[in-house]
Amino acid sequence: MTDRTYGFATQQLHAGQSPDPATGARAVPIYQTTSFVFKDFAAAKAISSVEEFGFDYSRITNPTNEVLENRIAALEGGSGALSVASGSAATATAILNITHAGDEIVAAKTLYGGTFNLFVNTLPKHGLKTTLVDPTDPENFARAITPKTKLIFVETIGNPDINVIDFEAVARIAEAHGLPLIIDNTFGTPFLFRPFDHGANVTVHSATKFIGGHGTSIGGLIVDGGNFNWANGNFPDFTTPDPAYGGFVHWEKWGNYPGAGNIAYIIKARLHYLRDFGAALSPFNAFLFLQGLETLSFRLERQVKNAQAIAEFLEAHPQVAWVNYPGLKSSPHHALAQKYLPKGAGSILTFGVKGGFEQAKRFIEATKLFSFLANVGDSKSLIVHPATVTHGQLTEAEQRLAGVKPEQIRLSVGTEDLDDLIWDLEQSFAAVRG
Ligand SMILES: *Cc1c(COP(=O)(O)O)cnc(C)c1O
Repeated sequence: MTDRTYGFATQQLHAGQSPDPATGARAVPIYQTTSFVFKDFAAAKAISSVEEFGFDYSRITNPTNEVLENRIAALEGGSGALSVASGSAATATAILNITHAGDEIVAAKTLYGGTFNLFVNTLPKHGLKTTLVDPTDPENFARAITPKTKLIFVETIGNPDINVIDFEAVARIAEAHGLPLIIDNTFGTPFLFRPFDHGANVTVHSATKFIGGHGTSIGGLIVDGGNFNWANGNFPDFTTPDPAYGGFVHWEKWGNYPGAGNIAYIIKARLHYLRDFGAALSPFNAFLFLQGLETLSFRLERQVKNAQAIAEFLEAHPQVAWVNYPGLKSSPHHALAQKYLPKGAGSILTFGVKGGFEQAKRFIEATKLFSFLANVGDSKSLIVHPATVTHGQLTEAEQRLAGVKPEQIRLSVGTEDLDDLIWDLEQSFAAVRG
């Protein structure tokens, strides 16, 4: 134990873990068990009623998952975290935790396809309405807020527009209305972007992407910024007795928890939505995400460098109609990227090939190193056609709203040798030329 605040590279290896008290194991052990033996009756009662934190059943808590949760909370500067079965489960859980039927969400219209579908098609069936706004002007968020609004939701780097929002301006609007700002930081990662430093209150991640980096596991994380007043009158679930747990009041119990601070949001998410909806992360996958996290900063440093070089290469290429990458001076998001993403504008970019859909299709089918698949954030470079795959379930009108175009290709740039990646793109352009 020390008072020193460690740097990112140190924390990604050490935060949230001490060598296993039972065996001294240096690596985080995989506690692949459903349940934990209670010491005695008193312990069983204390843990089951949450008078004490402890392990009882792995749907709700597990020691391997707990290290992953503590590590991501440390890296992002939050008060606590929750691991779940996927990024989609993270988003759904984060929203359900603070909404009821009849409530409203205000979100940026540039969203991951699955999130778009959740907001536009699925949540309305459960009485939740989402207003999607053009995030370019932060005032659009303010204009969409009604007395029923419970949260504002945006992504660090929008999908597939690769746009960057003025987070601090949106956070000020959220704060003025007593609403939390939830940011999907999947494309940012805690290394490139720390949303809580800019006024966000909750983050969600698809750990499937950069946090793993190895493309082996599906998982998600929710991080509580510990900086939102859930007793501000907009969220009575936090300030009235909870019948699911013998009538305790979440805000009284977890609003200022000794040693942790404000953990009311993340504890409530665990006790209600992880317990009742059950999207638990397996300890084995938590272990794999911990392996990925150990190298997060090193992978990202390399990936943003490769992405910047590839964006510049594409922008200069005669067969390219346009490139979206906030690291380019030509990007309308360049100034905001320099402010919020000084270590690099992510490793994901989109571009349009001249000629339209047919040329895009030929290009994608010609790549040898870039893998044609539906994922991002892998150490391996990936390529996809958003209009067919990631946003393929959307109607044409919805695609237009989300910024999806027929000639659009999305790259997720990995850690390979830059020369090899450029070579692959060159030979694909040659294939398109025929
Ligand atoms: C992939 C992704 C998700 C969904 O995560 P899964 O782990 O696939 O469920 C959510 N948001 C963003 C930005 C994503 O890229």
